[in-house]
Amino acid sequence: MSRSRRSDNWGFPRWGGYGGSREAAQVRLCDRAGCTDRGDCPAPKSPNSPDRWYFCQRHAAEYNSGWDYFAGLDAEEAAEREAAERQTHEGFRESAHYAWAGSGDGTRSRDELRALDLLGLEPDAEFDAVRKAWRAKAKEVHPDVRPGDAEAAKAFQALQLAYEVLRAAEERREWRG
Ligand SMILES: [Zn+2]
Repeated sequence: MSRSRRSDNWGFPRWGGYGGSREAAQVRLCDRAGCTDRGDCPAPKSPNSPDRWYFCQRHAAEYNSGWDYFAGLDAEEAAEREAAERQTHEGFRESAHYAWAGSGDGTRSRDELRALDLLGLEPDAEFDAVRKAWRAKAKEVHPDVRPGDAEAAKAFQALQLAYEVLRAAEERREWRG
């Protein structure tokens, strides 16, 4: 049975045994991609949102000090990771138990939610709103408008990544019908 070979560790949200023992209590893992530490530090997803990320102490500190989720990733890596997360989420698509709190229909990946947050949108925002917000924000920091401004260039790149993540996800949804 493939079911019994499943890891406990790839649910959505992420839960897993802590301390290496299968008998260990199920604890929530840090929401930072790739981190397997215990995520017991809640952090608001956006100032007016009741939704929370759960990070380990290190990543909570990073997040609270204005950590840019998309920094250091190029578009390809971001899209790749987004796709990987969606694949692991796929098996739980029909299960309300695994739906991400506050993610609308529960089918958005963490990267999508982070991208929406970056654009200042709610988790259930339609793609039209995504395009609008992206255009408005990207215009402000566009290299043509802010030549030689490194901060603006970084912000512009992050917006492009966020948009790319959401556009790819929207395409997959349309494909599936
Ligand atoms: Zn962490």
